[in-house]
Amino acid sequence: MSIKTKQDILDVLAMPQDEFERTVMAEAKKIHQSANRDELVATAMLGFDNICKNQCLYCGMRAGNKNVDRYRLDPDQVIGAADAAFALGFRRIFLIAGEDPRYGFDRILSIVEALHAKRFFISLALGALAKSQYDELKSAGADEYVLKFEMSQRDVFNRLKPQTSFDERMASIGWIKESGLLLGSGSIVDYPGQTADELAEDVLLTRDLGIHWAPVIPYMPAKGTPLALEGGPGKTDRNLKVISLLRIMMPHVRITAQQPGKDVSKGLADPKGNLDALNAGADMLFADMLPDALSRNFSVVDNRITRGLEHISNMADQAGMRLVFNESETIEHLVKVECITTDSDVGSDIRKEIISALDALQPALAMAHCKTHYTERTCMPSDELQSGTVVLVNGEKLIIPAYSAVSDCVAKRILELVFDPQQ
Ligand code: SF4
Repeated sequence: MSIKTKQDILDVLAMPQDEFERTVMAEAKKIHQSANRDELVATAMLGFDNICKNQCLYCGMRAGNKNVDRYRLDPDQVIGAADAAFALGFRRIFLIAGEDPRYGFDRILSIVEALHAKRFFISLALGALAKSQYDELKSAGADEYVLKFEMSQRDVFNRLKPQTSFDERMASIGWIKESGLLLGSGSIVDYPGQTADELAEDVLLTRDLGIHWAPVIPYMPAKGTPLALEGGPGKTDRNLKVISLLRIMMPHVRITAQQPGKDVSKGLADPKGNLDALNAGADMLFADMLPDALSRNFSVVDNRITRGLEHISNMADQAGMRLVFNESETIEHLVKVECITTDSDVGSDIRKEIISALDALQPALAMAHCKTHYTERTCMPSDELQSGTVVLVNGEKLIIPAYSAVSDCVAKRILELVFDPQQ
């Protein structure tokens, strides 16, 4: 099954749910089984600071919400919670915070350094940062940064996130990729007023960003927020379609399975919601490492209920999936391919060539438990690159002989690295 165009996506969104489950959803699950060995990745999650300077219209932690008890865990407390997660077996940790100007970036770097030394896979969602800060996080040992674009319509984004703009958000996403951090991104599904056409555009943008993780959940209203007055919650059936579409378009990305069910009051650990998402091709569940009293106040959405490892393990059993704790269990080789060009027109052709070469390699790479991570950037001509395009594979400049196709050279080098690393 091929999903490539906006019309392909709209067709799935319009499909009767039973037909979707028999066809698209079944295909997405099959893809996950063969591309990722049907793994379910358990992640420890810690919302360590719920103070935020912003006023996003959909978020329960917005600065203006007086009904939230605010807290800020210090680095020792964060590292202590990570140690507890490590003792339970977790090797992947997801640290989240509001945009708190007083936390101190040096303290965040100290947390990342400490967790890196413990060999965690570190994923962060701390809001929009300065360009240099992503580089510093990468140098300190962070692996992944999550910054959702939320919605691809500039005007809607600018209305719902008044302290920033869509263009600033996309620039920030570009900086994350340039820093070498893996990118987690995606959109809010089925928020009040969203059309199928807009959702299809969001799905296409998620595909085009070169993400490693799609943290996708349906819109869940938060009490006391302006958007909650406009409608909601988002339809879980529609969200399942988005999960399957993303899995079919991007076989190897991580996709959040932490979904509500029909009754959103059961939160993000609703067993039926989680199982449906896993059967639609999602592959990641979280255990909240916060004590209940604090967790209640990490209230980006209402009913943000998650559960512990036992729940994740039960979900893996019920879905017949293999529970894993570490990215490195699933990725024995991560090959990074970077395309740098001084000419965006030429770069865009080369980009298509490289992406299609990487797609063609995926079945062979999956057998070797290998993934590729592709990034690209355009730069001004400089001493580093006078003009044209260079392709780096794991940081090494690829030599492209005259009359050779870039795609063939990229494929050959990756296969050498994976199957014949002595070369
Ligand atoms: S969505 Fe993030 S940036 Fe916006 S108010 Fe909530 S915590 Fe702050």
